[in-house]
Amino acid sequence: MSQRTLVLLKPDAVRRGLIGEVIGRIERKAGWQITALELRELDQDTLEQHYGEHKGKPFYEPLVAFMSSGPVVALVVEGERVIEGVRALAGPTDPIAAAPGSIRGDYGTIVRENLIHASDSEESAARELKIFFPGR
Ligand code: GDP
Ligand code: MG
Repeated sequence: MSQRTLVLLKPDAVRRGLIGEVIGRIERKAGWQITALELRELDQDTLEQHYGEHKGKPFYEPLVAFMSSGPVVALVVEGERVIEGVRALAGPTDPIAAAPGSIRGDYGTIVRENLIHASDSEESAARELKIFFPGR
């Protein structure tokens, strides 16, 4: 079942020089393709759309501030079960709870600064891809 997912390398990953490391893990999965890739800064409107489900939660405002603190790398990744697969590579939201071997488990310590966003379902992927790569 070939799918498309939205991946964001968050500002901490870019600042720490981990773009290649994280993209390399995605690229090395057999059969997955990166079909769009862009370094960009996110404005408030884009972040509000993207993280709308979290609006009103205590971590929302600091999350948006963090996500606009520097450039991110936005990617479209396509391939077999890629939505579930990139979430598995990333590991759970809290990097301390994430297993070593996962991206968050290997490189993160702070819940907010957990290196990577990946769409969590087909519905989220469709919605998020429209925000970041309209017309693709
Ligand atoms: P994800 O799908 O694993 O990225 O997690 P969520 O969709 O639940 O949350 C979105 C992002 O908000 C996470 O990746 C974290 O950067 C941040 N976040 C989520 N929960 C918390 C929390 O309890 N505390 C803080 N500080 N940040 C959080
Ligand atoms: Mg999420």
